Amino acid sequence: MALDASLERCGNALILRRGPPASTLLQLARATGAKAVHWNRLHEPALAARDERLASELAASGIEPIIHDSALLCPPGAIRNAAGGPFRVFTPFWRRLRTRLAELPAALPAPRRLPALDRAPMSLPLDKLQLLPAVRWDAGLAQRWQPGEAGARRRLVRFVAAGLAHYVDARERPGEPGTSSLSPHLHFGEVSPRQVYAALQPLSAAGSEAFLRQLGWREFAAHLLHHFPHTASEPLDARYAGFDWRDDRDELAAWQQGRTGFPIIDAGMHELWHTGWMHNRVRMITASFLTRNLLMDWRAGARWFHDTLVDADLANNTLGWQWAAGCGADAAPWFRIFNPVLQGRKFDPTGRYVRRWLPELAGLPDRWLHEPWAAPARLLRRDTGRWPPPLVDLAASRARALAGFRHHLAAQRLRSPPA
Ligand SMILES: Cc1cc2nc3c(=O)[nH]c(=O)nc-3n(C[C@H](O)[C@H](O)[C@H](O)COP(=O)(O)OP(=O)(O)OC[C@H]3O[C@@H](n4cnc5c(N)ncnc54)[C@H](O)[C@@H]3O)c2cc1C
Repeated sequence: MALDASLERCGNALILRRGPPASTLLQLARATGAKAVHWNRLHEPALAARDERLASELAASGIEPIIHDSALLCPPGAIRNAAGGPFRVFTPFWRRLRTRLAELPAALPAPRRLPALDRAPMSLPLDKLQLLPAVRWDAGLAQRWQPGEAGARRRLVRFVAAGLAHYVDARERPGEPGTSSLSPHLHFGEVSPRQVYAALQPLSAAGSEAFLRQLGWREFAAHLLHHFPHTASEPLDARYAGFDWRDDRDELAAWQQGRTGFPIIDAGMHELWHTGWMHNRVRMITASFLTRNLLMDWRAGARWFHDTLVDADLANNTLGWQWAAGCGADAAPWFRIFNPVLQGRKFDPTGRYVRRWLPELAGLPDRWLHEPWAAPARLLRRDTGRWPPPLVDLAASRARALAGFRHHLAAQRLRSPPA
């Protein structure tokens, strides 16, 4: 609807069709007399392959495919290490990319006019596409997000004016609006990273470099998925292939539904379900909990995130999950396991985040908020008393994970000793 409204302001309208891309576009091109089809390059391996096929089918039929690069600051493949290979570590990748940013061509402004055809081509009505879920679980998403370019622009302008200066201090505190929330807009191309880069000028402003570096992680994620497409389903660090992850449906459901008994985890899973988004720090804590304390397959977590996040992005999600599971680029080492109680106290010290998402715990004093099971009985109200007991013992589950990783890596070394 937002795109249609933007096109209408230029004197045109969005045309909706459904069918195989090449034949559907060819039919439309023939009906309108179009000589070329323009689109923006996507980098997910399956989509890139589809678009490559599309480009050759269009070209074979005399329609020129014109592909633009605006999803990333730098197309994947353009940044290489001294040996000409892909980077597997973020910092040198970022150093190389950072030096190239000053040469970036400026983003073009949107066209003011897009002349419409005399006879508008047939378009399906939007509701024919049945894009909304049959069971309307999505009300919270509409409260939080304004999809489309105008919503993206508003967030960017507001963040640069009011958030950027505090970004370094506030970005790790999930209880505060300390980050930009641009991720779904970036994912869907409603704002491009070059537009974000331009809005950050002059880069001397507080927070600019730290924020730009996060865009660097986004580039790095796309770079990794481009060079190592198997990592969407297999670990980048091959030593972790075949790890014997646990498979416990009840525990997975407790994690998905925010019933683990650990407030920072459960608050995060509630935030995800209600808004389609979760703060980065909490993504790290919840992912660590699933892959280490519950010792469950990172792919099960990645699937749940992919299904529920409004910014679900194969490259970023894969990077995040492999980081948490210890099997990706620059990953958290296998022996470093987050303690959700300590993480909660450190990053949500006043309990604002937990109280917002778990109102049943709101009355507990800060001292007990991140470990309600330890609170004196007189402090537990009736609703707080129903709080689920911890799903696992933190010390025992930590020891289980350490033993599992140690054993697996030792077996790997025996199988393929270092040269
Ligand atoms: C387990 C896990 C799964 C994740 N899954 C996704 C996902 O599906 N989609 C997604 O966009 N991000 C994902 N992230 C990265 C990160 O959590 C989000 O990009 C960030 O929380 C978005 O909020 P923001 O826009 O306010 O970020 P800001 O801090 O304002 O950062 C600005 C932009 O930089 C990019 N960015 C920031 N951090 C990262 C990062 N660690 N990796 C890659 N890009 C980053 C995003 O595009 C973001 O919009 C995941 C992280 C983890 C740990």
